[in-house]
Amino acid sequence: MPELPEVTVISEDVAALAGGREVLRAGVFRPDVTNVEPGEFGRRLVGRTLKRTGRRGKIIVLDFGDVVGVVHLVISGRVLRLPEWSEPDRMNTAVLEFEGEEVPVVLAFTRLWLGYFDLYEPGEENKHPLISHLGPDPFSDDFSVEYLASAFGRKASVKGLLLDQSVVAGLGNIYVDEVLFAAGIHPTRKANTLDRGEIQKLQAVTRDILHRAIELRGTTFDSYHDAFGETGKFQHQLKVFTRAGEPCPVCGTTIVKSRVAGRGTHTCPSCQRVS
Ligand SMILES: [Zn+2]
Repeated sequence: MPELPEVTVISEDVAALAGGREVLRAGVFRPDVTNVEPGEFGRRLVGRTLKRTGRRGKIIVLDFGDVVGVVHLVISGRVLRLPEWSEPDRMNTAVLEFEGEEVPVVLAFTRLWLGYFDLYEPGEENKHPLISHLGPDPFSDDFSVEYLASAFGRKASVKGLLLDQSVVAGLGNIYVDEVLFAAGIHPTRKANTLDRGEIQKLQAVTRDILHRAIELRGTTFDSYHDAFGETGKFQHQLKVFTRAGEPCPVCGTTIVKSRVAGRGTHTCPSCQRVS
């Protein structure tokens, strides 16, 4: 009987659970979710130690020293801790077993139906199209007011630009709506109409909101993932997202839903400046 329940983990947990531990077993179910032969997948990982984990936007990077894993869960994918080794299957698409204190740590990368778990030589992962074209991580120094001011020198809507992964990595629809509400900026504003103070505010609230979302485990693996309502407590802190028809928590005006940049968009018509 399994002693541990099956639980969803996020990137910080992957580091906490498996960091510094050696891979004992590794397997992948379908050849199309990785860039190496299925047999090669295990051979290249077994015996290696997870040295570091990182996140680049919606991608998780697992640094095993001589091999680097690049995982994209897309929307359906999750990372689960399994009670014991389980051969990869349709649900548990890729499974890694790490040495443990008393029992091994088994992590399953589930439902990678659209996602993947690719392996690279160190440094090669930066050539991955989704990594090479990613804008700065919101927590990096590169995500500065100066950077945003130059990225916003365009007529595109500010919402469209914030959703663009080449402008800033990892911001999903939920967080863009929340960030723009917190900054008092209407999503349809042309980015090049924002003044310096607004850009400063936007940068600060982006970090603040993502930080809180991560603390509250806003979503599963990738903490600012688009998949809404999976686990986190952060959904209870959402001010406008999914709150159409409810009063604005700041001014009481009814929150409205519209479509901006092709996405469902939630705004307070009073709090968010249109121009
Ligand atoms: Zn309001």
